[in-house]
Amino acid sequence: MKIKYILSLFEKYDFPQDFFNMPSEQLVSLHANALGFKLDDILYRQLSDRACYIHKISQYKSIASLIKEEGILIKEDNCIDVKGYCEFSYFVFPEKIININIDALRRLEQSSRKIAGRKISDSVSFKDIAIAHEYCHYIDFKEKYKLGGSGENKKREIIAYLFVKKHLNLNFYTWILDLCYLKDLTENL
Ligand SMILES: [Zn+2]
Repeated sequence: MKIKYILSLFEKYDFPQDFFNMPSEQLVSLHANALGFKLDDILYRQLSDRACYIHKISQYKSIASLIKEEGILIKEDNCIDVKGYCEFSYFVFPEKIININIDALRRLEQSSRKIAGRKISDSVSFKDIAIAHEYCHYIDFKEKYKLGGSGENKKREIIAYLFVKKHLNLNFYTWILDLCYLKDLTENL
């Protein structure tokens, strides 16, 4: 994640208001920039088609039952050594373990409530968001889905975010949560 770039977004936009009102392709494109790649129409279509596909094969099931069916274990941890792009959770291959950083999720919940207030419904479980995100990575891994080109893992992040929005039927793209967390963090430095 390019922190400098994200800080520039906070200066350029009225956050979080503008992000809730932005067309989804524009928001996803900013997310891609923050991850370090350019999103064009073709790539956006490819990533969102993949998210839709994973949603379709999982459509009638809750995340809890999908996790159970696949034999995935959920572990809670408070002091995860965070690598890569997911700070709040990560998947351990091939052991099929989703590690959830409960402390970080709690902090995320507080900062998003402080910053976005009622825009983020109280009924959204941050733990479900994290588990759904990792479940999507698991399916990608299991099916050995190839995106092609460089920076595959970064592109897979977008697939997971698009999947979470669709599968949990959310009215916002959950990268906004990460931004709330970062905004809160940087303001309290
Ligand atoms: Zn991820």
